[in-house]
Amino acid sequence: MSTAVVIVGGGFGGLEAAFTLKSLAGDAVTITLIDRDGFHSFLPSIHEISSGKITSRSIQIPLETMLAPAGIGFVRDSVRSIDHTNRRVATAAQALDYDYLVLAAGAENHFFGVPGAEELSFRFRTPDDAERIHAHLVRLVEEERRDVHLVLAGGGTEGVEIAGEVLDLIRDSRSEYGPAGGAVAITLVEAQQQLLPGFPLEARAFAENYLREQGVTIIAGQRITEVRKDSLVLSSGTELPQSMLIWTGGIKPSRLIDDLLLPKDPGGWLVVNDRLHAPVDDHLYAIGDIAAIQGPGGPLPLQRLAYHAQDQGAVAGINISYALRGKSLMLYAPRYKPRLVSIGRETGIYSREDAFKAGAWVVAMKKAVERKHLMSCLSRPLFSNISRKVPGIDMLKRLGLKLPF
Ligand SMILES: Cc1cc2nc3c(=O)[nH]c(=O)nc-3n(C[C@H](O)[C@H](O)[C@H](O)COP(=O)(O)OP(=O)(O)OC[C@H]3O[C@@H](n4cnc5c(N)ncnc54)[C@H](O)[C@@H]3O)c2cc1C
Repeated sequence: MSTAVVIVGGGFGGLEAAFTLKSLAGDAVTITLIDRDGFHSFLPSIHEISSGKITSRSIQIPLETMLAPAGIGFVRDSVRSIDHTNRRVATAAQALDYDYLVLAAGAENHFFGVPGAEELSFRFRTPDDAERIHAHLVRLVEEERRDVHLVLAGGGTEGVEIAGEVLDLIRDSRSEYGPAGGAVAITLVEAQQQLLPGFPLEARAFAENYLREQGVTIIAGQRITEVRKDSLVLSSGTELPQSMLIWTGGIKPSRLIDDLLLPKDPGGWLVVNDRLHAPVDDHLYAIGDIAAIQGPGGPLPLQRLAYHAQDQGAVAGINISYALRGKSLMLYAPRYKPRLVSIGRETGIYSREDAFKAGAWVVAMKKAVERKHLMSCLSRPLFSNISRKVPGIDMLKRLGLKLPF
């Protein structure tokens, strides 16, 4: 009888887990992927939606289009609860029993309980969020031509990328932005002393200097403690005017796991071991943003990034197929790739460990990564069908493994 595998989330991790497992286990598994959205989205490009350079649809592929040719079931619905004791997940419409569950539901904005923040700021996590930001910016800047005080909460990659996009949007609307129009003041607030935490010092200084030169005000080393309708308050007590606040100030795990009674780390992320399943439940895997991976020496200090989610998806797929054949499970060992941050169309940051470079070519490189990913999403179902006998070669090679047969 076929083994029932349910995957929650069709983002970077969930898709990779589905394709890898299907190509390795074929008809021995019946995979159902559930996502509340009908599309897989290339999230690292959504800043370009906020400036209107691209539309949501240009970085999205329907999940059904990818999954059906590979023989993977798709349910468009929101999972509401997980009963890991009875191995069942439930949406509002149905309950699904599983033999193995892969949780890949990602993260959501964290407002840290700052009064007013959740109600009064624009979120920036999905293509829809970015569309809302674009529509509002266009209204303020091009239609109403008001004086705009735009505040970006958080100076990580999302805050820096969106600052670059807003600068492009303003430059592009200059011709219509005549003397009767207002002015746009952009302020970026970061709790740490410098932008881009986790990047080499040189890259952090470059981002800060570049944005300052372009007229962005940077307030570092301060937190936002309250958001009001037309202003916000900083930890120093200073009150800043704001007519639009975009929140990129932190993430927390998907609320899907709030009631799940399995070990979590202090941030609430679901703990898995280095085989990527819950320590007390080897039928429940968690991958990507939602997971906190414990290695033998303690928690793995991983940033929540798309390529880590993909690699973990591959390992979860491999491990479920190994478990079905009674083989010992594979260890997940992170590998590191360069990070690319665009700051508008004029420049971007490339960093790999301590190396740092900058230039407009980074923006082109980031676009190439987006195209490659979307193309592979389209070719993958064909590949996994043709290559059942030679499963997952690409991914196994990437992980430095020999074929399992
Ligand atoms: C604006 C932005 C820019 C980024 N830039 C980069 C970058 O440049 N480089 C990089 O490597 N990473 C970047 N990241 C991070 C990267 O996108 C994430 O690390 C990656 O998406 C995590 O993959 P995942 O599979 O864990 O979750 P996701 O890709 O977020 O997928 C989660 C999926 O689960 C679904 N879901 C959630 N809850 C439920 C539910 N209850 N029921 C059903 N479905 C559900 C969602 O609809 C979604 O499709 C960026 C993220 C954002 C938001």
